[in-house]
Amino acid sequence: QAKRNGGDRIDIFNPATRSEGEGRLPLETDLRMAIDRKQISVFYQPITRLANNQLAGFEALMRWDHPTRGRLGAEDFIPIAEETGLIVELGSYVLSQALEQAAEWHRALPRVRDPLFVSVNVSSRQLFRQDLVQEIRHLLARETVPRGTLRLEITESLLMENPERAVEMLEWLRSFGARIALDDFGTGYCSLSYLHRFPCDTIKVDRSLVRDGGLTGTSPLILKSIVALAHDLEKEVVAEGIETKDHADYLRTLDCEFGQGFYYGEPMSVKQVAALLHALNSHKGRREEPEETGT
Ligand code: C2E
Ligand code: MG
Ligand code: MG
Ligand code: MG
Repeated sequence: QAKRNGGDRIDIFNPATRSEGEGRLPLETDLRMAIDRKQISVFYQPITRLANNQLAGFEALMRWDHPTRGRLGAEDFIPIAEETGLIVELGSYVLSQALEQAAEWHRALPRVRDPLFVSVNVSSRQLFRQDLVQEIRHLLARETVPRGTLRLEITESLLMENPERAVEMLEWLRSFGARIALDDFGTGYCSLSYLHRFPCDTIKVDRSLVRDGGLTGTSPLILKSIVALAHDLEKEVVAEGIETKDHADYLRTLDCEFGQGFYYGEPMSVKQVAALLHALNSHKGRREEPEETGT
């Protein structure tokens, strides 16, 4: 069809070309209305304490129920949200929802010894805004949750944009009782040398390190070194992307504190979380090793 209309020229009416170029603008326009139209929801993925396989908290992950494209995962729209600045509004929404939920979980599971935490991703547009600190202070005052309930996940690349300012912001946030987790650790290039400079409590090892090679190759050695270094710096470690029992077992031998991944549970809706907590409550907070799926 393109040929008939003029050789190699890209024909904007060619359906194939159009569906590719369609992406950006309409999606951006739709995203501007998505919160008001209640299309944005927050899913929660379990984070498990490896030593006893007990649920320790959840990571909040944004989802968008797009009217024509169906449910979009974070990777499909977070980049647009960041470029357009819409991430600020979306991020505020996730923060308030997540804290509201955490307060709800504490009411649902009063017998658990350590209150469940909620870990929320923060992008640079949000962090470097003057009022994020005020916003979080305000939210923490509104939802009466124990100190340490809120964990903010920050990526290393974000910190490197403006290290001095980042350190200052993180210290403020910590003073209000929020914990800081360094997300996607192991994917950047300056990880180790800068680790001690940033005020953080937790390191989240990226799933690429957990996944690659499982127990063979160099990944186990890198994992082992990262966990050891984190512990030397008195930081806890969450391993992302735990997909098999072998992953969990290996990280447990390294004394890695927490695991997160499909083996322990996929991101789930508020309703599914409520059902899970209800089940845990009736089993007196105990949690069995999940059934292995597949072989
Ligand atoms: P992330 O913070 O590193 O989140 C972990 C991602 O890994 C999630 O993807 C999660 O669904 C996925 N995941 C968890 N366990 C496994 C596993 O066992 N195997 C595999 N293959 N994947 C697993 P998701 O939800 O698509 O989020 C992608 C990224 O988008 C997040 O990466 C985070 O950087 C960003 N994001 C998500 N929600 C928010 C948000 O509310 N605000 C901001 N600023 N960013 C967000
Ligand atoms: Mg994260
Ligand atoms: Mg991560
Ligand atoms: Mg990651």
